[in-house]
Amino acid sequence: MKIILATQNKGKIRELQELLVDEEIEVLSLQDIKDWEDVEENGKTFADNASLKAKAAVKKTGLIALADDSGLEVDALDGAPGVYSARFAGEPKDDERNNNKLLQLLETVPDDQRQARFRCALVVATPKGEEFLTEGTVEGQILTQRRGTDGFGYDPLFFVPEYARTMAELTLAEKNKLSHRAQAFRKAIPILQALKIKG
Ligand code: IMP
Repeated sequence: MKIILATQNKGKIRELQELLVDEEIEVLSLQDIKDWEDVEENGKTFADNASLKAKAAVKKTGLIALADDSGLEVDALDGAPGVYSARFAGEPKDDERNNNKLLQLLETVPDDQRQARFRCALVVATPKGEEFLTEGTVEGQILTQRRGTDGFGYDPLFFVPEYARTMAELTLAEKNKLSHRAQAFRKAIPILQALKIKG
């Protein structure tokens, strides 16, 4: 069975291909599609945006499609930046400025009120019009200064108590094991297996 992951991100493509290596499921991506027009991610939730992207990819290819959307939710900011995570500090998107804005907004927030989580929604959409949603979350704390150099986005400010390190201090293998995206991808495997059997 062939499926398409609606992303250009090489890291995500490799992660899903590795998870599906024993499943006889071939993973294409937007890099294999000519004339792909980016979908406007104007949904109110991660699941809305993932659904928009997955349905657009089904329409374009006729294949079963997967799409994910993710971001950071900070409790002291009522869940912001949420679906605006990539462009929190405005266009063009810039991790450095996003992290500065986050630090600034949380400047007066005490340590015991800096809880946050990364959330990922993943939608599997089929040409028959079915949609399946999986989710993953990682709980953590926003630090008052950056730590670590790996990863991307908010990783240097996101402390994972379970590992006593920030996401930017974890190895890629560690992050791929625990990440919100990895959890959502793993939960999609039985859905894809069932769709493969059904044909
Ligand atoms: P996307 O869903 O992969 O496009 O992620 C949207 C935005 O959320 C990114 O640009 C980052 O700012 C943030 N984000 C999502 N996942 C992560 C992560 O694992 N680490 C750090 N930031 C993330």
